[in-house]
Formats: sequence, structure tokens, C-alpha cells
Amino acid sequence: MPLINTQYDSIMREYARRQARSRQELEERLARIHRELPALSSLEDEITACQAGKVRAAVSQDRKQAEALDAALQELVRKREALLAAHGLKPSDLEPVYACPDCQDTGYIGEQKCHCFLQAEIDLLYHQSHLREVLERENFRTFSYEWYEGEDREIMRRNVMDARLFIEHFDDSFQNLLLLGAVGTGKTFLSNCIAKELMDSCHSVVYLTAFQLFELLSQAAFGRDRQGQSGRQAYPYIFDCNLLIIDDLGTELPNSFTVSQLFLCVNERILRKKSTLISSNLDMEALRNIYSERTLSRIISCYTIRQLPGSDIRIRKKLNAGSPGEI
Ligand SMILES: [Zn+2]
Repeated sequence: MPLINTQYDSIMREYARRQARSRQELEERLARIHRELPALSSLEDEITACQAGKVRAAVSQDRKQAEALDAALQELVRKREALLAAHGLKPSDLEPVYACPDCQDTGYIGEQKCHCFLQAEIDLLYHQSHLREVLERENFRTFSYEWYEGEDREIMRRNVMDARLFIEHFDDSFQNLLLLGAVGTGKTFLSNCIAKELMDSCHSVVYLTAFQLFELLSQAAFGRDRQGQSGRQAYPYIFDCNLLIIDDLGTELPNSFTVSQLFLCVNERILRKKSTLISSNLDMEALRNIYSERTLSRIISCYTIRQLPGSDIRIRKKLNAGSPGEI
């Protein structure tokens, strides 16, 4: 779905803000380092003079002079590194720090949009900018087995291990995941853990509740939003992103449209070898009854299916308010 101009501008404004921020941080850091290490300035002056000398030597084709300056330059760089190391600093401390080192916060690598631009586009189009805040709270670091007891804890350990394998092999094998479990057993939390790891490793992730997904697809299909475009054209990221998460399948009001659209979505992504993670509090039988045999057979053949154990953690959390750990 192409961005409209104001959306594009708002993404580019954010890049400009990031660049200004990293420039300012660098200036402040350099001023502080030079204040604390006065010897650094004279070393850097010598390095600059050496580099200029090398250019002159190259122009006048004076090979001997160029080699001498090259050796001097290497020695000066070594001295600078030693000086920095003696004060617990690295050469990279003299460079800007970018939120995305791949595009240096420009949004582009050459003519191509950077992966961070694509994710910014997705966040904007699917109103999921809040997702990053959620993922700061709900991730593998904050995951706790505290809320699972006995055998449930072991089942959950295996589920977490499978989730980690899903991430580890995300780029080298095509995988999909169906997480089943009662309300409040941590399906969304586990989905968030996976989303965070993949977003942090530069993969594009669209996160939608089943309700939101079908709402978007129905807007496209019935022309209330983007006339004349199919769901595929209107919302390409749903079919193209590296990972699509459909949370809480079954909580929407099912009808013939949602049934056909789920098949379309699941099938299309399988054909494109794009991974999908679905969570639902329904069991397989109920999913089959609602979404048809053909959708279920696609899921059974192409998805890893995991059952989350236990009862509603949110209720237990309330009862044990003050206990450590999150879920
Ligand atoms: Zn980038």
C-alpha cells in the first residue's frame, strides 16, 4: 500500500530528528573526550596533516613519500587507539551512534528503502507504533515461569524452546506457528517475545488481532476505504511481511467473509513462503468447524502447533499481586 505524502513526510521527519539527535550527541561526546584527553587533539591534527600529505604525494606520484606517510599514519592511529584504550574508550566512541547503523538513519541504502523504513511504514499503516512499547515490557527477558506450576512449567519450557528455535531458524527454514490455549495462558506474551526478537533482527512484522485483520480486509473488499483495490493490493504487507501475527483468532465474529479471508491469507503466505504466527483460544475441533476443513488442513500441514498449558495467568497474577515475574 503506497504511503500518502504526509505519511512519507512524517517518517522522513523522524529520520531527520534521529540524525540531528545523533549529531548533537556526537558533538557533546567529542567535546567531553577532548576536554578530558588534550593529547587527542594534537594527535588528530597530526593524523589530518598526514592524510593531506598522502593525497599530495599521490598527486605528485611520489611513491617513497606516500609509503613513509602511510607508515607514519598507521603509527599515529595506533597511538590514538592506545590513548583511547588507556582511558577506557574505543575508536567507535569518536563516531556517531545510529538507531539503524545499516542506513545511518537516512532510511535508504542506496536507492532502496532500508528494512527500518519498511518497518516504520508498517507501524504507521497498521497503527502499531504502540507495539514497541508493549515489546519493551513483554519479551524473553521479562518472561517468567513463575505462573506455571508442575508439569505445566515443563510444557511451557518446551514451548519457549520451540519459540527460540523458530527465531533461530527464521531465515533458513520456512516455519509457521499456531499457539493454542485458554484465555490468559500467555499466548500473546509468547507472540510478543517472538515479535521483539525478529523486529530487533531487522525483520518486518505486522501484528494484528484477528478482528483488526478482518476489518482491514473487509474495508478493502467492500470499498469503504480503498476503492477498487483487492486486499492484496490495499494491504500488501499482510501478505508480504516477514512475519504476520494474527492474535486471538476466534474472538472476531466469524462469517463467510472471515472464513474465506483466513484461507486466502494463510494460503497466500504459505505460497509466498512468508511465516505466520496465529494464536487462538479455540481448540482444533472448533477451528475446523468455524474456518473449514481446507484451512485447517493447510495449517496442519504447514504449521507447528503448540498448546499452552494452565489457567488464566492474569487472574492468578491479580490474586498474587506483588509477586515477582511477568507474563
Ligand atoms: Zn535503516
